[in-house]
Amino acid sequence: MAESIYSKGTKVWLEDKEHGWIRGQVVSCSSSSLEDGLLDLVFVDERGKELTMSATLKEIARNAARNPKKHLPQLSNDDIYDNVDDLIKLPHLNEPSILHVIRNRYESHKELYTYSGIVLVAINPFTDVPIYGQEVIQTYAQTAEKKRNELDLSPHLFTIAEEAYTAMQRDLKDQTIIVSGESGAGKTESAKYIMRYMASMKTNVSDVIHEEAGSSGTSVEYQVLATNPILEAFGNAKTSRNDNSSRFGKYIQILFDSDYTIVGARIRTYLLERSRISFQQRSERNYHIFYQLCQGVATLSESERARFGLDGLRTDLTDGNSFRYLATSASSFRIDNVDDAANFTATRQALSVVGIDSEKQYSIFRLLAAILHLGNIDIQHRRDVKDAIIDSKTDSALAKAMDLLGINAEQFARATTKKVIDARGEKYESARTVDQAVGVRDGVAKFIYNSIFDWLVRRINESLGESRGTGITSEEGSSEGEHRPETKFIAVLDIYGFEHFQTNSFEQFCINYANEKLQQQFVSHVFKLEQAEYAQEAIDWTTIDFSDNQPCIDLIEGKLGILALLDEESRLATGTDDSFIDKLNSQLKSPSSHHKAIFKDHLHGNEAFTIAHYAGDVSYNVEGFLEKNRGTVPDEHRDLLMGSTNEFLREVVEVGFNVGIDNHANSHPHTSKGANAKPDGMLSPRLGGTAHSNEPGKAVSGRKPTQCSVFKSSLLTLTEALQQTSVHYIRCIKPNETKTPWAFDGSLVAAQLRACGVLETIRITSEGYPTRWTYGDFAERFVDIRYSFLRLKNRHRRRPVLLLFPHPHLLQISSHHGT
Ligand code: ATP
Ligand code: MG
Repeated sequence: MAESIYSKGTKVWLEDKEHGWIRGQVVSCSSSSLEDGLLDLVFVDERGKELTMSATLKEIARNAARNPKKHLPQLSNDDIYDNVDDLIKLPHLNEPSILHVIRNRYESHKELYTYSGIVLVAINPFTDVPIYGQEVIQTYAQTAEKKRNELDLSPHLFTIAEEAYTAMQRDLKDQTIIVSGESGAGKTESAKYIMRYMASMKTNVSDVIHEEAGSSGTSVEYQVLATNPILEAFGNAKTSRNDNSSRFGKYIQILFDSDYTIVGARIRTYLLERSRISFQQRSERNYHIFYQLCQGVATLSESERARFGLDGLRTDLTDGNSFRYLATSASSFRIDNVDDAANFTATRQALSVVGIDSEKQYSIFRLLAAILHLGNIDIQHRRDVKDAIIDSKTDSALAKAMDLLGINAEQFARATTKKVIDARGEKYESARTVDQAVGVRDGVAKFIYNSIFDWLVRRINESLGESRGTGITSEEGSSEGEHRPETKFIAVLDIYGFEHFQTNSFEQFCINYANEKLQQQFVSHVFKLEQAEYAQEAIDWTTIDFSDNQPCIDLIEGKLGILALLDEESRLATGTDDSFIDKLNSQLKSPSSHHKAIFKDHLHGNEAFTIAHYAGDVSYNVEGFLEKNRGTVPDEHRDLLMGSTNEFLREVVEVGFNVGIDNHANSHPHTSKGANAKPDGMLSPRLGGTAHSNEPGKAVSGRKPTQCSVFKSSLLTLTEALQQTSVHYIRCIKPNETKTPWAFDGSLVAAQLRACGVLETIRITSEGYPTRWTYGDFAERFVDIRYSFLRLKNRHRRRPVLLLFPHPHLLQISSHHGT
């Protein structure tokens, strides 16, 4: 018979408009005389406020099973649990209890980290906390294993890093640490601490740190760390939510040799935000590198500036008014506590460390300057018609930009203001409007910038890639059958979290698509595998509901899904954002469409479409979708860029044009040298069988890869790579919107815990067996069973230990379920 979970004195959580959740208790619980099974409940919170409710036993049971029809107060744990380091240790697992522990640890104990089963929850302190220093690294490092057991260390990023490192050695398997969370939650900082941990746990760490502080060291560890300032300079920017927001996704593999010493790294990046080059919202900035460059050369002499392509300017370089591409953000030209000039020096040092010499650096900076000058090209109306005109005789920005780019100014001006139309073999020119010409000019700037970024990543991979340190250098090559020392990797994925803004565009669509894929990976990891395994072991298991987001992924990437329709429309010369949304509406909203439930009626006329994502509904404004998806430059500009007299520019744009076509760009050198490439997730995506083309930017089939098709295949490669590795999860949480140290906004945190699956996960891990070993593995490792018992307790001291064997009834050891 059902029994009430409430009795006099039961501790509960009561909702309070002002304070969120407040602890309270049941003061009276009596059967109503009128109806059988109906209870009258009286609660009082710690502030003395009373609440009276009545509920049937059935309603109470449903509420306890977290499937409520009627919301009743949730049970609170005793306050001895207020500071547990793993949420699954809580007897009552519910949202207010979890929030309470996390808040209490954060606010009162200044503890940023709490385990939640297999997930580490990390709350951003928004201030420096002295828990990442060398001694701390050593304490957590493997070498100090004994000490760790004695010390009972608190949860930390370093525990996850150390677990990955140990698992790599123990299981001989590659590892991935997925760091997720919304913008400003602390993903990139966490990823960097993990990288520093890896880099300094084995080597003489003070050397690494010393080198990092500014000398010219070139140890591999130092080189791996040097990738961070480079990618941040070129790929991060100030946004309204984060002064150092990553505008790309990053998957970095840290490579270890058979001694488990770092020998290199490989990086793969995802979808750099291009639109930022020509436009930024108020209080946001362009990419850091532009400000570093301007501030860095501001005090130089005119002749020295010429090496950077920034000579001959009449305006001051330090206020952002010199360049249109920086002027939209002139009000936020500077960031508090950021010294762009000093960072410029740091970026240049880091470039040198990864093997990009100063001559090459000047070439890069001149291209960046060219981009700034490009933005200053004046595009005017021709008399009173709309046709665009550039005065190629007098426009000094045009002259300067083309000089730096090695392109004929007149030809560029013509190609930008006029479109060549090929009508059945007969070519004629038609004028572009001012808006169109500006779009083309900006498109060229974005394309060059994106190509520089891809070139950098490729270049870094060449110098840090697998060929080094493993006994094979690229010069030597590797002959067939030669023994290649085994390398393993620990990868860190720092990728944008789910985004939902007032206005959402192509970028949010891609980001949220990526998050659906990662969520699915997470869900299947935690939930599906768990259940399947229990079923296999014939252990009684009440199936736990989980939200399967496959239908949403189908809607996006399936046959005739949104991506397919977007690509189809992008390839049509006549395709527009309007025709795209018409197509979406007719294909996906039709009564027969099985996507109806996820593809929702839009509220904004014919401008937006809405997707029901796992983390909530998001409406996407279609404006700019096609242009962003095409993401390339007109044919005439491609020819001008490829025919440039600037050799470095040709090298750079070749990388840009070939992303998604060949497997050179953005990948590591071995794959392109025909060495035995393994499925490591680093191969650049190829489009449906297209082979390397001699003509950059044109696949053999004649189709240019679109941004979303490149993105789709790189996500596919990523998920395949994740499947081959053991995955560890870190969920970063932004505790308040104002970046205030130690301030905790409960509802903001709760929403993030929900969106990243933490609330769901703790339920399943707490109800299941968190550790499983096969009998063979167990026997091999622990010959002496008494000894093994101790070891297990120590190794997994943060989790209740319960072993799952092929015959679970034979032996079960548990510290919390009993034996
Ligand atoms: P985005 O998605 O915009 O790139 P993010 O999740 O990568 O955001 P970070 O750039 O890592 O966010 O963090 C934002 C800011 O929060 C940092 O610049 C830093 O000021 C602060 N911060 C994050 N983590 C920590 C930490 N562990 N200790 C101290 N400050 C931190
Ligand atoms: Mg970041």
